[in-house]
Amino acid sequence: MPRAEDLEMDLENRLIGTGYSREDAGIEQSLRPRTLDEYIGQDKVKENLRVFMQAAKGRGEPLDHVLLHGPPGLGKTTLANIIATEMGGNMRVTSGPAIEKPGDLAALLTNLEYNDVLFIDEIHRLSRAVEEVLYSALEDYALDIILGKGPSARSIRLDLAHFTLIGATTRYGQLSGPLRDRLSVPLKLELYSVADLARIVTRSAGVLGIPIEEDGAAEIASRSRGTPRVANRLLKRVRDFAEVEGSGVITEQLARSALIRLEVDELGLDSLDKRLLSAIIQFYGGGPVGVETLAATLGEESVTIEEVCEPYLLQIGFLNRTPRGRCATRLAYEHLGLPFGEAPGDAQLSMGPS
Ligand code: ADP
Repeated sequence: MPRAEDLEMDLENRLIGTGYSREDAGIEQSLRPRTLDEYIGQDKVKENLRVFMQAAKGRGEPLDHVLLHGPPGLGKTTLANIIATEMGGNMRVTSGPAIEKPGDLAALLTNLEYNDVLFIDEIHRLSRAVEEVLYSALEDYALDIILGKGPSARSIRLDLAHFTLIGATTRYGQLSGPLRDRLSVPLKLELYSVADLARIVTRSAGVLGIPIEEDGAAEIASRSRGTPRVANRLLKRVRDFAEVEGSGVITEQLARSALIRLEVDELGLDSLDKRLLSAIIQFYGGGPVGVETLAATLGEESVTIEEVCEPYLLQIGFLNRTPRGRCATRLAYEHLGLPFGEAPGDAQLSMGPS
């Protein structure tokens, strides 16, 4: 199991990595939409959420517990913030690995007030012991705490304020059944369309005071692999080129040449995506090949491949996931300039880490 910090470092090194990096920390807060109306795209999720929130408000109750799932950088934290604001509560943020002992969870829960939101990122990484304590908190708004050990141990019950838990995960399949059952509002975020990403880029440019033309925003959007976090990061880098080498305005031409220099190709693929596809084609005859084998071939963590590369490659139809492993599609061969069905070993592609 890779450590979270290693994964973070790994993702941080990629300009188009979808993971959160230290550089993002400063501006992500300022770029976050604050209301559901400002939140671009994800129409299905927004419509459902509006109904659930209105119904809860109508009954004068906090919202039921929510599960947000989808790849990193799609707006789960942002949406949780919006829910807390719209429901009129405060949000406390933590993550699965940060809650080490049941006592840590108890400290968080007993500090919540009526209608507050507790946001647990990476909720699939909660330990079993912590998860079990969470069940009664979610169902009965109470905590059973055992004081002391052995024959003198006694249990006390602490009542909690009626709060809303929002769990976020990139790995729906790793969530335990009981936890899934208790998060009764599941919302799945999808990768964004280029049109929605262009609106996000335009909005972010407005917030940051960056002059941008419509075609410039579309050019950045089309290379952002369906992910707002990537779009915002590319916007910042392209702005540097616009300021130093251009007139300060992000035009289509400027965006394109900047992104070529940043080695982000026209579909938003970077060297890791290309090495992944090349490995499937060159070493495994186009697949099927298991993700662990691929990870070993590339010298990468399998979680990086599954969470960062695959969602987008699946979405654009470059990869198929079969029960026996991953297969490269004809589109992937064409993008890499390789004849479909080529015998393994013919392609001259470097496999070393870039
Ligand atoms: P996650 O929690 O899924 O990793 P975040 O909520 O941190 O993703 O979002 C990453 C960044 O992308 C945020 O700074 C936010 O500005 C931007 N973002 C995400 N979703 C949207 C959206 N629907 N509209 C506008 N900006 C968004």
